[in-house]
Parts: sequence; C-alpha cells; structure tokens
Amino acid sequence: MIKAIGKPLEEIVETLAASKKVLIAGCGGCVTVCEAGGDKEVKVLASSLRLFYTNAGEQKELFEATVTRQCDMEYLNELAEIVDKCDAVVSLACGAGAQYMAERYKDKPVFPGVDTCFIGVNLERGVYSERCQACGKCILASTGGICPVARCSKRMLNGPCGGSEGGKCEVDKNIDCGWHLIYERLKALGQLDRFEIPVDPKDWSTSRDGGPRKIVREDIKI
Ligand code: SF4
Ligand code: SF4
Repeated sequence: MIKAIGKPLEEIVETLAASKKVLIAGCGGCVTVCEAGGDKEVKVLASSLRLFYTNAGEQKELFEATVTRQCDMEYLNELAEIVDKCDAVVSLACGAGAQYMAERYKDKPVFPGVDTCFIGVNLERGVYSERCQACGKCILASTGGICPVARCSKRMLNGPCGGSEGGKCEVDKNIDCGWHLIYERLKALGQLDRFEIPVDPKDWSTSRDGGPRKIVREDIKI
C-alpha cells in the first residue's frame, strides 16, 4: 500500500494562516493502515490544532470527517455539505487523494496534511519498507520476486554493482543489497541459472516517460 507520514504541525499551521473554517479530511484506505491519515489521525490533528489556536488566541473553526477513500469521487461527494461550510481543506490522504479532493472542490484550497512516501509493506507496526516504484512494467518474474528498481539503490537491472559487501549495499550499510537478495532468492528456488541471463534494457516508457500515466480497462469500464 501507499505509505505516508504526517506533516509537522508547524507546516500545517503555516498553510492555514489565512483560513478560518477548515475541514480536516481523512482517508479510510492506505493512510489509515500506516496510521498517517485515518480517522484517528484526523482527531489527533484537529485536537493539536485546537490547542495551538487556543494558546495563540486565534479563532478557527475545525471540522473533521473521514471517507472510505479520497481517490474515488463517490466518496468525495459525501463531503459536499461539510466542505461548503469551510474555506479550506487539509487532506490527510496520499497525494492522489488530496489532488482528487482539489479537483472535486475547485473553489476551496486543499492543503496536504501528509507527505506521501512510497509503495511498501508493513514490517511491523510503524515500520514500513519500500517494495515498488510503480514503473508500469513488472519484471519480478525474472528477478526471483525481488524488485531491483525499488530495492537496488542504483536501480541496476543487472547487478550487483561491485560495491555489495556482506549482503549490504555500498550506498548505505544499513540496507540490504537488492541484488544480494535476488541472488539468495534464486539460489533458494534452484533458479540460479536465471542470474546468468542478462535482463533486457528496461522500457521506461511505462514509467515517467510522457507525463501522467493513465489506465483504461475496457473490460470493466462502465
Ligand atoms: S486516496 Fe490515497 S491513501 Fe486514500 S485509499 Fe486512495 S490511494 Fe490510498
Ligand atoms: S550494492 Fe547492491 S543494492 Fe547497492 S547499488 Fe550496488 S547492486 Fe544496488
């Protein structure tokens, strides 16, 4: 899932300087799982802001709401009444959700309340690790199910680079060398012969080539 972390309170306070009535909007999807932007975080942020504004002697009215997902218009529509009462929204969804909120409510400034970081997994509560960079052309079949784009610091498609030592990456000794992981995985699977087969140059046109990407699924489109 998408992983995000909450922005510092001071940054949010700064963005809200000109706003008097603010909706803090959470998302029930990815940011709830990583505890950055769900219902609980909406309540915590709203409480922190209220305390800040009380201490600062500032008058602000804060509203709170969390929808199932901010990346779906049908759920954003549910906020129409409450957004109408506000002059700004702080979205605690990922960058996609926050932008979709701004598209839906064109006359209201929408400020991000979190920093969207990566697509990753939960190693344990509060510890997340990147696994995918959404390049648009998955090569996991040829790399033992471990992605060199996300897990090699140099995104090498044919590694390791020569700096790998003791299974760690030369860029940062605290992280595993992605290509060491690939080697060990292929060995465990009895597929080390794959390691000898060069991975073809990657077609990056499915990644960030040519601007924002779009998927049209004719088979499920209404
Ligand atoms: S808006 Fe972002 S955080 Fe929320 S469900 Fe959609 S992708 Fe996940
Ligand atoms: S040491 Fe391994 S993970 Fe680090 S850059 Fe080289 S091949 Fe990639």
